[in-house]
Parts: sequence; structure tokens; C-alpha cells
Amino acid sequence: MSRRTIFSSFVVGLLLACSAGVTDPGGVDEPAEPVDLSPYFITPVLCGDSEGPNCESLRLGDDHLTTTAPARGKLYSCSAGNPNAPGSDPTRISWIDWAAGSWNLLAKPFLPAGSFAPGPGQANLSESGGIRSITVNNLPVDGMIGDWPMTAYPLLSAIDRNPGIPAATTITFRLPVDPVVGATPACTSLGAIGVTLNGVVLYNAVDARGNDAVAHEIVDEFGGHPAMSDYHYHFLPERLDAEPMSDGHSGLTGYIRDGFGLYGYKGIGGIELTNDDLDECHGHEHPPMGYHYHATLEYPYTVGCYRGVPEAAFAVAGPALRSPERVVPDAKMLAPFLRRMILHHAQALELAALTSGRTHNEGVRRLAERIMISQSEEIRFMQTWLRGVAASGAPDTPEHAMPGMLPAERIESLGGTSDSTFDRLFLEAMMEHHRGAIEMARVYRDHSESSSMGAAAEWFVLHVEAEQAAESARMKEMLKSLP
Ligand SMILES: [Zn+2]
Ligand SMILES: [Zn+2]
Repeated sequence: MSRRTIFSSFVVGLLLACSAGVTDPGGVDEPAEPVDLSPYFITPVLCGDSEGPNCESLRLGDDHLTTTAPARGKLYSCSAGNPNAPGSDPTRISWIDWAAGSWNLLAKPFLPAGSFAPGPGQANLSESGGIRSITVNNLPVDGMIGDWPMTAYPLLSAIDRNPGIPAATTITFRLPVDPVVGATPACTSLGAIGVTLNGVVLYNAVDARGNDAVAHEIVDEFGGHPAMSDYHYHFLPERLDAEPMSDGHSGLTGYIRDGFGLYGYKGIGGIELTNDDLDECHGHEHPPMGYHYHATLEYPYTVGCYRGVPEAAFAVAGPALRSPERVVPDAKMLAPFLRRMILHHAQALELAALTSGRTHNEGVRRLAERIMISQSEEIRFMQTWLRGVAASGAPDTPEHAMPGMLPAERIESLGGTSDSTFDRLFLEAMMEHHRGAIEMARVYRDHSESSSMGAAAEWFVLHVEAEQAAESARMKEMLKSLP
């Protein structure tokens, strides 16, 4: 295991979705001999009846991620996956029918229970001033966890080289007690999308590559796996759905980061739900709960988008950046880069905010919303990272001129326009701004190659480049279609 794979796994998990696998993306393995994985199969109770999706032929989610607009059965993600991110080895996955676009839950291996015991799980809920605080240590309260690390199981680690070992990490979620349905659904991004009452965080349905994480990655028979030390679920383990309400409807199993509850697999009357029963965000509204999400056995498993406002009252204090020295081998170069990139991102937010009241173009409005969510997440990430770098003694350096930063007059004059004139000028300005960010990332990468840049930083730069390039391509198309 090289430092490189450890570092990239580490940050991928923090930033995007899941970093569980650490297969070197550069290495191409020969297709493996068939192996008998049956000792590692599980038999979910939910698969034992005719209700709900067919466990032997679940729809593979790989092609059902969307970055443009929410849709039923899809995951609305703020950014596309990074195809070069680490993940499990597709040539060794026998339970996915690639041609049919389906996978067989009953033929997929799970890491069994064993002697691994990371300590007691904790979850404390409290309410004050309209805010529900949920503090967890990210270990299962019910103590159910597999025998990590998986490296002790060669058949499994040949498929998914995740070397992670779950460890306690304190995380606090602050969510509105009475969430409201937002004007438009919001995209999901970057790490935790919610938390279970079992004390373990939920990630969305995809791995760092943007593929269906539940189909691709190996988790333990209790439903979770670690990104380095950060244990998480990509779907709801069925044992957490054990206390139905009096009408048979599943009970509350956790909260999503917009404050709405995540309920189990069954609706009123105890009938197992499918995507067809739910809206594009994977929820529905009925008394006495009002709006709420449901788990399903089919992609996107937990939520498809945020029905409420994920940014308003959500805060995670926490994981992953505990040991910045592990992430930042070259603080001298990284700190100024982060500082500059934060300022650069901040201007993107400023630009995006201008759309309010100035556009009637649905595409432009959605674009601005996506930019606001993804860039503010990245800013938060970079600020946390920067604190770690600063603590390690990096000198402050003066800011230089940044490519793509727009002069104040340009932003001011943009603010004086509206409708199609605004749309055109806005898209042009944002594209120029994005080109600048890509240029900054490229320059940083070039200058850092000879130094010990660290795969984490490299991954982040690639992430910024990929995201902004995809966004720019989309804006180019939008510009063409403007009246
Ligand atoms: Zn994961
Ligand atoms: Zn319901």
C-alpha cells in the first residue's frame, strides 16, 4: 500500500462520496478466475418476499447519476464522479450483469463479523431553539460491525482493496427541527448526507467514481464500510428498520442533512416501497410526518436530492482533518494555493448570487444553485484544510493576480442587467471565471510535481479541474441555446 493510495483514498472519501476501495486506477488487472464467494453471501429478509424490488436483478445505478436536474430513480449530484478515483476492481465483480445494467444482491459478498471491536458507538440527540443537534462518534450504537480491516480476507480484498479500519470520530449535525420544503430540490455532494440513529453517517448512493457504491463496493454484513477510519453506510441496513409504527409504516431511522427524517423500507400498511412510490428526491408527504424520505433496495437507496435546504442549518464538525500533516506533505505550496482558491471560489459565489431576481432562465437558475452548493462546500473544505496547514507553520505569502478573477466593475455592470442580457453576460463571466480556476489548478499541479505534493492535494486539484470543466461545457451549451 503506497502513501499515495492512502492519501487519495482519504480525501476522496471526505470530499465526494466514498473512498473505500483503493485499487490503483492506473493498474489494469487480468480478469480473475471465478472464485467461490458464497461463504460471504447474505440473505436479507427484505429479499424473502415478492414485495419491493427483485434482489437478484436490481437496477445498477452507474448510469443514473445526474448533475443537471433531479429525476425519479436518479441521484442528483452536484458533481460528476472522478473516473480516476480509486474503487473496487470491475474485472473481479461477478455479481454485476454489465450488459443488462443490473446486479444481484444475493450473489454479492459481504465482510463477515469477527473479532474486530472498535469500541462503543454513541448517538446523542438534543433540541434547542429550533435546532436538533445530533452528536455521534460514527461507530454503530448497536455494536454491529464487520471484521475490519478487510485485508485479512484475501478473496474480498482482491476485489476491493479498502485497507480502512473504522475508528471513533465525533461529528455533530445541527438540523432544523421543522424543516421546510425548498422552492427547488438541491443536489447532494461531498460526504455525509445525513446520519442514522445508530450513530453512523450516511453517504449518498455513489462512490468516488460516481458509480453505484452499493453495487460496486464491498461493505460488511451490517451494511457499512470505512473510508480510511470514517465508517459509513450508502444504504439503510435493514436491521435499523425494525420498529414499525402502528399502521405498519416504517419508523424513523435517521435524519437527512436538510432536517427531514429518513424512514425505513415500508409505507403505510407495511408495504415495501419502490422508487415509483416516491418523488425525485426519494420521499413523499403524508400525515402524521409531513414530508419524509424512505429507504429502498433500489438505487438511489436513501435520497435522490434534498427536498429541503441543506445549507441553512447544517454543520458538521469534524472528521478526517484531524491529522493535517498526513494530508499535507508540502504545506509551503499548498497554503497559498488554498488561500487563492478560496478567494476565487468566493467570487463564483458572488456571481451566482447575482442570478437572484435577474434571471427567468431555469437552466441558469439551477446552474447558479449547483455552483453555490458545490463551491461553498469546497470553500469549507479548503478552510478546514488551510487551518491544518497554517498550524503546521506555513508562511503567509502575498496574493498574486488570479486568472479568471473579474474586476469589480464587471460584476457591478452585470448586476445592472436582467433576463436574457443577464443570462448571456452571466454565463460568459462564469465561464471565464471557471477557466481561471482550471488554470490555477493546472499551474499548481505543474509546479508541485517535483515536490511532495501529496496525492490528497493532487486529487483535490483534479476534482476542481474536472468539476469546473464539466460545468464549463454545460454553460457553453446553455449559451448556444439562449435566445
Ligand atoms: Zn463508501
Ligand atoms: Zn412514508
